[in-house]
Amino acid sequence: METYRGFEQGPIRPPSEANSLLLRLTRNCPWNRCTFCSVYKKHKFSLRPVEDIIRDIDTIYELTSELQQGRTLSLSNLSPEKESAYYAARSWVATGMTSVFLQDADSLVLKPEQTIRVLHHIRKLFPSVERITSYGRSHTIARISDDNLREMADAGLNRVHIGMETASNQILDMVRKGASKDLHIKAGVKTREAGIELSEYVLTGIGGEEFWREHAIETADAINQINPDFIRFRTLHIRDSLNLFENSEEFNWQRPTDLTVTKEILLFLENLDSITSCIKSDHMYNLFQEIDGTLPQDKNTLLGVLQKFLAMKPQDQACYQLGKRLGYFVQLSDMVIPGRLAKVESLCSEAGITPENVDAKINTLIQERMREGMW
Ligand code: SF4
Repeated sequence: METYRGFEQGPIRPPSEANSLLLRLTRNCPWNRCTFCSVYKKHKFSLRPVEDIIRDIDTIYELTSELQQGRTLSLSNLSPEKESAYYAARSWVATGMTSVFLQDADSLVLKPEQTIRVLHHIRKLFPSVERITSYGRSHTIARISDDNLREMADAGLNRVHIGMETASNQILDMVRKGASKDLHIKAGVKTREAGIELSEYVLTGIGGEEFWREHAIETADAINQINPDFIRFRTLHIRDSLNLFENSEEFNWQRPTDLTVTKEILLFLENLDSITSCIKSDHMYNLFQEIDGTLPQDKNTLLGVLQKFLAMKPQDQACYQLGKRLGYFVQLSDMVIPGRLAKVESLCSEAGITPENVDAKINTLIQERMREGMW
């Protein structure tokens, strides 16, 4: 039995969990083989003893109670194991203490009875918590019994984030995702049937120049069979040195242009049918953050964003591509803010950026930022 290492938090959470208390059930990723993902690559997976997780929750309870009573806590009076808990408690109190996110990459891999015990303990100590969410791999969720999933929902787990990435079996295999289209559908449907909200992540660009159509069509087909509560886009950014299709002897991944990715998202959205999901593009690295709406009523508006970009003059497209990455634009409509377009046009001219070389130049910029740890 390992000794308690103090309150722990993992490295990442979805942007929508910015105000949540991050509670670590497991460390790192039990799969850790996806070729596009470097988050946990140098770290070994381990389960945390359930008693340690309970102790973390108790510590947060003690600290938040003191903070809510207006007591000033001096860091020098806290044991080292409580110091990180103090910062977590303080920011959770400041953001209203209404949501909890279970970490790391696949918390539901813990034995169901242990997860349920943790959920009950959170609910008991923090009855005001409205939302408890977790990342989950399709492979893990597909193996949890329906009864156990329902018990988790009853104990308070109300949203799961699954990284579908794509539902093309060929791409899933080439990027070593450890899931098939059928497995993604099974896990998604089970989650919804258990009464747990489901957020499915779609990774734009994962098919590269060669497989973008297959990626769009197969993923839309899987999503149509699941009807998740949320569809969230993430954009693939990988180092030039990485071999994304590591599991293929036949294909090399070819970095898609922004134009290809736009056509891919358009084709994906066009193929969504008879579902009621909210669609979000809630990450700052996405090219079109204004994609935000609910199906079916907002479908034409969402398609309109992509059609508008495709109809723009190549020089304006290049300006938007650069301006978005440099923070001058968040959405297409920002191009009419006085002075913005002129500023980006002059940057394009200074850097010799043209419609022909814009993707290569932006990739060079992103690669530099990745090396500096800024992307
Ligand atoms: S399952 Fe998720 S966290 Fe694990 S390697 Fe794949 S993408 Fe990364």
